[in-house]
Amino acid sequence: MTNQMIKLDDISFDQSYQNLFQVDDARLRADALQHSTVPRLRAVLNECIAFIKDTYDIDALEDSRISWYPQFRLKRKNELTHLYDSAYASLGGKQSKEKWHGFKRKDGKVVQILPFRYGLMLQENGLFIQLENYWTKGLTDESHRKLFDFHIECESLIHSLCYRANIKPLYYHGDGCEPISTLKEHYDWMAENSYYDNFFVSEHVKYPILSDDLHRIADDYVTFYPVYDSYLQIAMGKPVRFLELVGKLNQWLRHADKFSETESPEDADELVANLSDDDLAKAKEAAEQKVKVMPSIRWQIFQRDNWRCVACGRGSQDDIILHIDHIIPRSKGGKDTLDNYQTLCHLCNLGKSNKDATNLRNRR
Ligand SMILES: [Zn+2]
Repeated sequence: MTNQMIKLDDISFDQSYQNLFQVDDARLRADALQHSTVPRLRAVLNECIAFIKDTYDIDALEDSRISWYPQFRLKRKNELTHLYDSAYASLGGKQSKEKWHGFKRKDGKVVQILPFRYGLMLQENGLFIQLENYWTKGLTDESHRKLFDFHIECESLIHSLCYRANIKPLYYHGDGCEPISTLKEHYDWMAENSYYDNFFVSEHVKYPILSDDLHRIADDYVTFYPVYDSYLQIAMGKPVRFLELVGKLNQWLRHADKFSETESPEDADELVANLSDDDLAKAKEAAEQKVKVMPSIRWQIFQRDNWRCVACGRGSQDDIILHIDHIIPRSKGGKDTLDNYQTLCHLCNLGKSNKDATNLRNRR
């Protein structure tokens, strides 16, 4: 599997990725998200899955599968009418007729798709982790109650994980729900009103998102994984192994701390400041502004090269990530013009690194 060769150190999201969300060309935005952004997010998620194996000795792909967005199928023309304002890669329950009998549907049919996704989302305002509960409407109240009971029972530990992973719940505080209430009161209120909200979101990492940031977000993803795992276990009708996983996490953290000299204490004020209403309002405002922005040179080069490596022809479906390569390096007087750039996959880029001024397009 080529994907194993993509490491977090090789991935970053510079300003051109933010620029993408401002470009007023739906086609380019969709292509760039699919061929450049999504493969990088998938590579980060694959690293997270490897860290989950190291930390908890769990194969995250045993009960979950990876999904991503955007993902075009045949209805391409229709899809282009969508507003492409995000890209994600996430873990979600495997589709199965037998797996999820811990949950029941109101209409009595078998639960085939687990309605929870745990993933990485990239938007104009940055990269963040999200545990979300889409399409849970079909589940019975009893199914939701099981999840609520888990949250109430493990409240303090889940809270610790939230703190450690820079993640916080986005609780609904609407009419009839006390803005300041205990978790139990909150979940009781949700159960009474059939309002199901198990939505958690992390601090947004702002552009440019460098590999150090990705290491941090991968750590956070792994730290919060026991909550997602508990959802899976509850959905499968199995006992939750939350405490066991938190124990393994603690073991791993102690081990990591021993070898880390630079770790600084978390800044509590910073955590509280995350995702303020102000931030959200600003992000919304930015998204609503229809400014015509030139696509970054990166997107122009990828587009010219048809979103494929000019040397080997591999594209995003081949589990590679695309890089921009200087044909003549800057150090040798190469210019920052379109014709001095080419699209290379990370494998060909690696092969080229020692050879200067190789125009792989012409050689091919
Ligand atoms: Zn290649």
